[in-house]
Amino acid sequence: MSGREILVAGGGIGGLAAALALARKGRRVRVLEKAAEFGEIGYGIQMGPNVARMLERLGVLESLEPASVFPEALIFADALTNEEISRISLGKAFVARYKFRYFVIHRRDLHGGLLAACKECEEIVLAPSHGLKTFRNENDAVVVTCDNGVEVEGAALIGADGLWSPTRQAVIGDGLPRVAGHYVYRGVVPDEQIVDRSRAGAMTIWGGPDLHMVQYRLQGGAVMNNVATICSRRFRRGGQNPGAADELEEIFAQTHPNVRDNLRYVSRERNWVLHDRDPATNWTSGRVTLLGDAAHPTLQYLAQGAQMAIEDGVVLAEKVAAAGEDYNRAFLAYQRERMNRTARVVLSSRFFGEYIHVAGGARELRNELARARDPENPWEVDWLYKGIEPDGRL
Ligand SMILES: Cc1cc2nc3c(=O)[nH]c(=O)nc-3n(C[C@H](O)[C@H](O)[C@H](O)COP(=O)(O)OP(=O)(O)OC[C@H]3O[C@@H](n4cnc5c(N)ncnc54)[C@H](O)[C@@H]3O)c2cc1C
Repeated sequence: MSGREILVAGGGIGGLAAALALARKGRRVRVLEKAAEFGEIGYGIQMGPNVARMLERLGVLESLEPASVFPEALIFADALTNEEISRISLGKAFVARYKFRYFVIHRRDLHGGLLAACKECEEIVLAPSHGLKTFRNENDAVVVTCDNGVEVEGAALIGADGLWSPTRQAVIGDGLPRVAGHYVYRGVVPDEQIVDRSRAGAMTIWGGPDLHMVQYRLQGGAVMNNVATICSRRFRRGGQNPGAADELEEIFAQTHPNVRDNLRYVSRERNWVLHDRDPATNWTSGRVTLLGDAAHPTLQYLAQGAQMAIEDGVVLAEKVAAAGEDYNRAFLAYQRERMNRTARVVLSSRFFGEYIHVAGGARELRNELARARDPENPWEVDWLYKGIEPDGRL
């Protein structure tokens, strides 16, 4: 253990991964979390081989395995016809190429695995009910004022405080994130409730005009995770109640009955309004930097937001370890390493969102091109799944 504490604002997946990565380098860390408890909401999350590599490096991959499901393929189907258009096989050739498996897991299990590992580290202090309110950069320290009135001093501050990050507002000050006009409904139901079991072993995504549906099993196949997304037409027209449950039904009315039927598995109790931001050119001010959604929030269409946050944490810890007590140098090196990769995720996610949701002749073209894909060669995401250097060099 060495040095003064590094402060991490936010104990989500990104903040905990960063804390763990820093602790693995012998650094002391205090995680300031706004909520009264460290936790995550109860839906699924997809994890590619690029992040499996990082989780192994953090020493948590094996502990996540019992709660993980390893789909045999990623299937893309047309939501209007229910026809399978293309697939990426996740079998032997995939693992031989990327060294790690693709898996899906309950967010609570992923966050819980990181949290358990953090609790085992004497270098990490977890501070719930300590929301970051403001901070000041001093010559050799950062002082955070929390919303409970407590002041905490640290050697540096990492803003892992999510989409609405107050740390970002102080560092970059670029206002609110961009509203995409896409609305997401989710649900996890016991597997026996699922009527159409024809793609049981896969992760399936049905794409259609202004909509898509995702399904995959979690917790050893005991439950099915269901995600329905619409690109709200009301939002585009500036109308009332964009993305409301009746618009979900309206937009899904055009889909094949088996696809439409899946709507019964998503809850109408709440929806998620999707946001992202244009890539920034700086995340750092003095001894303060940003990580995860605070730095580069992205649409969900590559399923990489949390994965990028975990990669960020590992790279950040490498740079801190290499720069000794010079946190500004470490953070500038970290952002140099991470900016283009995360920007590519943000921009490619927008592109994949368009690709999934097209209509008319564009849909015909999309399907024709997708049918010609080689299931053993996912070239579009090769740069992503190959991940960052596997041997400690970053
Ligand atoms: C529908 C949907 C599906 C998705 N699917 C995937 C997927 O399959 N794979 C994937 O990799 N990603 C996916 N994502 C993206 C992923 O959820 C996010 O990118 C990821 O959770 C970001 O993690 P984070 O730790 O940066 O931020 P968050 O998860 O937002 O965590 C931020 C933490 O900071 C805390 N906080 C907030 N303000 C303060 C403050 N002032 N002080 C202290 N603490 C504060 C919050 O309470 C929270 O604990 C999906 C997103 C959506 C919306």
